[in-house]
Amino acid sequence: MNNTTKTINRALLNKVLNTIKINAFTLKSINLALNSIIKESTLLNKISWFTYAHKLKTWLNSAIDSDTLPFTPFTLGNEKLPFLSWSTCPGINCPGAGLCWNNGRGYCYSLKAWRYPAAFFRQLQNTILENTHFGRAIILQHLDRLQDLPKFKKLDHITLRLFVDGDFSSLENLKFWMNAIKARPKLKVYGYSKSLHFFKQLNESGYVWPENYVLNGSSGSKFENTETALYVSKLPIYRGEFKTMYVTKETLTAWKTQELKPIHTNELKQQNKKYFICPTKCGDCTKIGHACGNNEVFKNVTIVIPAH
Ligand code: SF4
Repeated sequence: MNNTTKTINRALLNKVLNTIKINAFTLKSINLALNSIIKESTLLNKISWFTYAHKLKTWLNSAIDSDTLPFTPFTLGNEKLPFLSWSTCPGINCPGAGLCWNNGRGYCYSLKAWRYPAAFFRQLQNTILENTHFGRAIILQHLDRLQDLPKFKKLDHITLRLFVDGDFSSLENLKFWMNAIKARPKLKVYGYSKSLHFFKQLNESGYVWPENYVLNGSSGSKFENTETALYVSKLPIYRGEFKTMYVTKETLTAWKTQELKPIHTNELKQQNKKYFICPTKCGDCTKIGHACGNNEVFKNVTIVIPAH
């Protein structure tokens, strides 16, 4: 071990994930992927990557005698996003992704999470769980146990952001989550999805959507401005669009420091549409709660977030 400056490169992580997916999540393909990461982390002297890859590998290859997982499947939030959240790997779970992914070279913010080995391996563990019946049962056990924690038990509802990273990877996966949400009315779940074709297919099958799920349209989808997007925008669970707007550096800085003046907000205006500028911290979003999860007051309001 001799190199401390380089880190595990995104191209390698993307390649191993693609290989796992092509091989339909077989144990052999996951082990081979983890071996590549272990080898690279040894060469680069990246102890955390080495340790976490081993942790996941040990769990995968042990006899299962409990639902204990190597990484906490749901995270409990931070100052920016103080909600329960669920993530899987970006890219391999995003069949609706367009330019945002671009085979791991796009602007997807989830790629930034790959600087942190714990985030990457949590995403991988959760992706593995979502891909088997047994894994999905474990997800539900963890979700129910969380609902029973004293800090959540006293609340009248629990907010869950579904897919901070990743997306609905298949029709089966979408149905699994929608059924799970419907069976747990205490949860208030919201998210952003580009897997719009699955929403359309599920709706066409006559599916009754949960009342406690809110979908935001997300820019960068390959379905943007298509019949599929128009169809999904009419579903009862659809709140409205969440849109990234490219602005000047000055406007972005003013937004980050929350000192927006009319000269800045003009850049974010939406012609002939009701709009709301994302105020950065979901926990303090509005006096009536966070806008993205509110399908009544913010119905059909385009929420804009600046970028440069
Ligand atoms: S609009 Fe509010 S809820 Fe939506 S991302 Fe921004 S701060 Fe979070």
